[in-house]
Amino acid sequence: MGSCELSHKVTLIPGDGIGREVSLAAQKCIDATGVKITWEEQLAGEEAIAKYGAVLPAQVLDSVRKNKVAIKGPIITPVGKGFRSVNVQLRKALDLYACLRPCKLIKGVKTRYTNIDLVVVRENTEDLYAGIEFSQGLKRTKDMIGYLEEQSGISIKDDSAIGIKPISISASKRIVKFAFDYAIKNNRKKVTAVHKANIMKETDGLFLRCAREVAEQYKGRIEFEDRIVDNMCMQLVQKPELYDVLVLPNLYGDILSDLCAGLIGGLGIAPGANIGDNMALFEAVHGSAPKYAGTNKVNPTAMILSGVLMLRYLKEEAAADRLEKATEEIIAEGKYVTYDLKKDRNDPTAVGTSQMADAIIAKLK
Ligand code: NAD
Repeated sequence: MGSCELSHKVTLIPGDGIGREVSLAAQKCIDATGVKITWEEQLAGEEAIAKYGAVLPAQVLDSVRKNKVAIKGPIITPVGKGFRSVNVQLRKALDLYACLRPCKLIKGVKTRYTNIDLVVVRENTEDLYAGIEFSQGLKRTKDMIGYLEEQSGISIKDDSAIGIKPISISASKRIVKFAFDYAIKNNRKKVTAVHKANIMKETDGLFLRCAREVAEQYKGRIEFEDRIVDNMCMQLVQKPELYDVLVLPNLYGDILSDLCAGLIGGLGIAPGANIGDNMALFEAVHGSAPKYAGTNKVNPTAMILSGVLMLRYLKEEAAADRLEKATEEIIAEGKYVTYDLKKDRNDPTAVGTSQMADAIIAKLK
């Protein structure tokens, strides 16, 4: 749209844990840019269970499908039990197949590095995240073990739980294509495909073959290379400046996103987007940090910068630039920032989530 005259419609899913605090901070910063947005608030996660008895009510998906753009705070996923991740359900149900996580060093943030400008592109719909799991001890799991032993000739301990890792040609090619198109659009130089194809010759092997095939179409325009995931982790810690855009299957993408967030100073500042062919949902890399819920303590930057990505998606480039610059200035000044951005985490001058957002808004004016 790119015009301040017309109003964009955006679904706002505040989330739970620290979700409501950080998403409302982001919402007021976005509104303060002057871009007109009609927000449609939808509950998911714990608040939705309390109000509607469902963790992801149908109206949430309907609202995102209608508005095509959403911003979401983090949502708790119980470990090892309970409901399936709402975040994963949303990405799959809306086919938001590309998870985009730019990791750029911001001046004033304390880190071990001086030069980081990486972009993680994570496949969002398949891999071990597909949720195809068989509980230990069930009859169907024993049947599955029997079937797999018969088909593979490899014995499996009969007290095992089983998880299935689907990797397809179509999903692999489209995520690699997304990474290359992103690289071209954003003047990046190189795409690195990350895998474990030496061990998982069929699944990761397929991902790598697809990556090489897609890379051929961009030859001469964008450089391409691949790395085995364990080596990639070491290289990112030792010489991150050698890398540019990384493209990964779902699980490696999840893990390396947090690693890259660590390189730029932590989860409090790492933004993200889940993008499909005609809609997108913006969210921070971090989770709902339940121990900080309701304390007005955590850093709103990751959500605010997710809002910057959203403004760019809405073609509100000037507003996005202003909000990004104001956020970076507040961080560089180091005065009105949350505890995690202070040199000493116990610094009593640290401000709260909403006060940091207010300082950023004051800079915008
Ligand atoms: P987390 O990201 O919630 O928190 C880990 C630690 O990182 C926190 O204890 C805190 O020290 C720090 N941190 C996170 N966000 C911060 C912020 N904005 N400012 C300052 N520090 C921050 O990870 P977790 O504890 O592993 O997960 C908690 C819950 O969140 C789990 O239920 C998990 O499934 C869920 N989760 C949700 C999403 C999502 O909604 N997309 C993503 C990751 C995890």
